[in-house]
Amino acid sequence: MNYRHAFHAGNFADLVKHAGLLRLLGELRSGAPLQVIDTHAGRGLYDLAGPEARKSGEAEAGVVRLMQAADAPAEFAPLKEAVAALNRDGQVRRYPGSPWLIAETLRAQDRYLACELRPEEHNALASLAKDYKTMRTLCADGYEVAAERAQGRALVLIDPPFERADDYARIVETVAAVRRRSSEAIVLIWLPLKDLETFDAFLRDLEDASPGPLLAAETRMRPLTDPMKMNGCALVLVGGPKLAAPLERICRWTAETLGEGGSARIYRLG
Ligand code: SAM
Repeated sequence: MNYRHAFHAGNFADLVKHAGLLRLLGELRSGAPLQVIDTHAGRGLYDLAGPEARKSGEAEAGVVRLMQAADAPAEFAPLKEAVAALNRDGQVRRYPGSPWLIAETLRAQDRYLACELRPEEHNALASLAKDYKTMRTLCADGYEVAAERAQGRALVLIDPPFERADDYARIVETVAAVRRRSSEAIVLIWLPLKDLETFDAFLRDLEDASPGPLLAAETRMRPLTDPMKMNGCALVLVGGPKLAAPLERICRWTAETLGEGGSARIYRLG
């Protein structure tokens, strides 16, 4: 387990994931209580002035540009507000991870379980959770927790580091297990885009294991000619509200503004 999200916090892929997540949570904030399970939560809040973020420069090319942009679509407004709330002096030094965004958005009747396997990341996450009555954390394998605990009106966020070859297969198994436990459950998955073969094979396996409506949203930051690079990212939504139009605006702005010859592709399956 070498992956450290501090190097990548606030990059283009976080912007897509977090703007999409906040849009989805906005839709789910009315109605019966919601259970949210974050399978790969990370530490919750990131220091962009720290050595990791400064070394990678990814936040400079991502959230710093988003905060300066006047033309970002309205779907980015909740994320911009969250970043502004954490950086009152206008300098972008702190970036919210999925735990902070989820915990801040949920209602008192909702429940949030955040899983993180790396002990030092989990310690930071557990200390964040003290500020929120709705939030609990586990230093545990998030795939197993989701497969064993998702129930009823649930949202499961799956955002692995993809440093293990079996992450794709474990996502497919976990989504199937979650949907077996609750036909109402919604799953939002984040994936890197390197080459299309890997992503297409994943979608085929997911469709076979979890029949039903799927929405795929690709943010291609550059043409996918070099499979050794992370050329973009994808969000896959299993079940849930119809979000094709807002996700398209999020992916298109990111690819066209922050990418190099980038493009977006949104399509339904199932
Ligand atoms: N979801 C976070 C966010 O949006 O702010 C970022 C998560 S980061 C991409 C992935 C995290 O998963 C890392 O902190 C890593 O330590 C953790 N991790 C890796 N394997 C895990 C597993 N099987 N279960 C739970 N956490 C895991």
